Amino acid sequence: MMGQQPPPQEKLFYTGITLDKRVRRNHPLRNIDEVIDFEFIYNEVKDKYGSNGNVSVPPPIILKLMLLLVFYNVRSERELMDTLPERLDWLWFLGYDLDTDMPNHSVLSKARTKWGVEAFKRFFEMIVWQCVEAGLVDGSKIFVDSSLVDADASNNSVVDTQSLKRYLNKSYQELEKRLDIEEDPRKETRNHRKMNNRYISTTDPEASIVRVGKTKLRYHTHRAVDTAAEIITATEVTTGDVNEAHRMNALIDSHQENTETAAKTIVGDSKYGTIKNYLSCHDRGIKAHIPDLKKKQQKSGLRSEIYSDNRFLYDKESDTYECPGGKRLKRRKVHKPRDSVEYAGSIKECGQCELRRHCTKSKTSRTIKRHMRQDELDTMRAMAGSAESKRDITTRHHLMERTFARAKRYGYKRARWRRLWRVQIQEYITAAIQNIDVLVKYGRDTRKAPAVAMETNQRTLTAYGARCIELLNWSNIRKKIKCQQILCFY
Ligand code: SF4
Repeated sequence: MMGQQPPPQEKLFYTGITLDKRVRRNHPLRNIDEVIDFEFIYNEVKDKYGSNGNVSVPPPIILKLMLLLVFYNVRSERELMDTLPERLDWLWFLGYDLDTDMPNHSVLSKARTKWGVEAFKRFFEMIVWQCVEAGLVDGSKIFVDSSLVDADASNNSVVDTQSLKRYLNKSYQELEKRLDIEEDPRKETRNHRKMNNRYISTTDPEASIVRVGKTKLRYHTHRAVDTAAEIITATEVTTGDVNEAHRMNALIDSHQENTETAAKTIVGDSKYGTIKNYLSCHDRGIKAHIPDLKKKQQKSGLRSEIYSDNRFLYDKESDTYECPGGKRLKRRKVHKPRDSVEYAGSIKECGQCELRRHCTKSKTSRTIKRHMRQDELDTMRAMAGSAESKRDITTRHHLMERTFARAKRYGYKRARWRRLWRVQIQEYITAAIQNIDVLVKYGRDTRKAPAVAMETNQRTLTAYGARCIELLNWSNIRKKIKCQQILCFY
């Protein structure tokens, strides 16, 4: 017999209802609640509250609200608070009841200002340390990369600071007053290109104009990811125009601080392959599996048509270079700011040389710059070209793409808030959530942890690891692709 739905009739009392029963056993928030201790935040922010006055919303609730905001990629804090009474799982996660008064949306922005970046940094570090303790971090090999994040500001908010028209722009006048009080952020950030010194967004003055694809106001996120279970061990946000190569050492330091393990190998793309980075890795005893930036530049553009530096042979005894035409390039001058020595061929010999069109575009003669630590540099470059390095560079591409692609689920591609410190908070929460995902998946049962399984692809060979290595040795291309897919899975 077909059932008929009776007209809705509100009950006055509900007995025997607990939210705990309403939330399924395998709910993601239940897993997070089991794994993460949010109480730590009391200690972190206790100095930020007075001893009397209004009683605040408990800090763990605020932190959980921030987590919900990013985890469910809710558009705004207002929307989060509006949705909260309708979501039994969120209420349960917060420890609220059906009739608990909901906090105002402004508690979140006030807490961010009151706590500052440090509290969220500690949250991220705490999660990383939990991953280390769960055996999910190997620590010896890290992959580094960066990605651009759109600022929460429109291109229409950009003002030319050298044009007098800016004084007709009301937003600019307000911004100038604000910057007088707050200190101009552009003065604090080095490495600003000329363009960003001239143009400023009145909505978010710390966002930089970046011309990659469409010209937009952007920030730059830099991440270090451990190879074992793809745990993000260090992260940093800078203005969009900061070169990623300059942040490599900061990432290595943060990784070491957060995991208490020194990286022995670093893997990055050619943008990190600068002389400074190679020498820094050499001094720190780190293997740099990074393609050479100079080599890449030589292959592209006009330089691809002329002989590269490695066709010139250095003779230590005479301190000269022998060119492909059999002539000698002699020491000409020392370039102290670049720590290099310039060698040049004779103007007469180069002028008469048949190979000239393949060798130089200069009107005088071919020159070669030799770094004062060229031998160390050559060692590092040779290491970067090894088979092991090439394998790591291929793995890096998939692994880093994946970490940024997963972050998109949490609204990573656009900043939720304005100003650098707020975007940094967003990144700490996003990276923490990504790590919690792995922690929830493997952390409670270390036998399943890929860190233990892979142990940097080689050391501990479990069934999966052994299978991967076996597949790597197969010559069949189709099987190699399959092997790559398995490595990607890890
Ligand atoms: S152009 Fe000068 S440096 Fe180049 S091959 Fe000829 S002689 Fe040698």
